[in-house]
Amino acid sequence: MSSSGYVSIQCPNCQRSLPAGAQTCQFCGTPLANVARPKSVARKVPYGPQPWIMWLYNAIAGYMIVKGVMHIVLDAQTMASLPKPLPASVTRYFYFLFALALFQMSLGLGLILKWDWARAVVRVFCWIAIFFDALGLFGSSMGAVVFGTSGIAVRMFFGILDIVAWGTLLWLLSETD
Ligand SMILES: [Zn+2]
Repeated sequence: MSSSGYVSIQCPNCQRSLPAGAQTCQFCGTPLANVARPKSVARKVPYGPQPWIMWLYNAIAGYMIVKGVMHIVLDAQTMASLPKPLPASVTRYFYFLFALALFQMSLGLGLILKWDWARAVVRVFCWIAIFFDALGLFGSSMGAVVFGTSGIAVRMFFGILDIVAWGTLLWLLSETD
């Protein structure tokens, strides 16, 4: 099948090849409404990613934006609750947190709008996150050996969940290229 999506069907009456979109045979006039069409023509976008892949991709990107908003709200509340005047170093620390949250939000937005730089940054970020999650898992399993398992099972569960999430995002990035 060519990339233009041109595929042919066969006239049930005269057996000639016809464009897949034809409604009547151009040679003998037979109506073709009941002729089975190849799947790639029935689907409007034959070469795009599956709809559920786009859905999951946008859901994770949306989650990044929501998390960024949450961080800003929570950090602003914490900042407001501290006794005034704030030391300059503490103020700078909060501005750093706000900038980080804004950056995370712009990455999520960039994923949805398919900005190339955002997708490239997230790709690198996923590998870094997987690396540190794996280190954490290794540490947790060492802890389980030394101190027994209380509390460590929960931490390991979320560590594995994180790795699965970042791995899924990496895979989604390649699927939506
Ligand atoms: Zn025909």
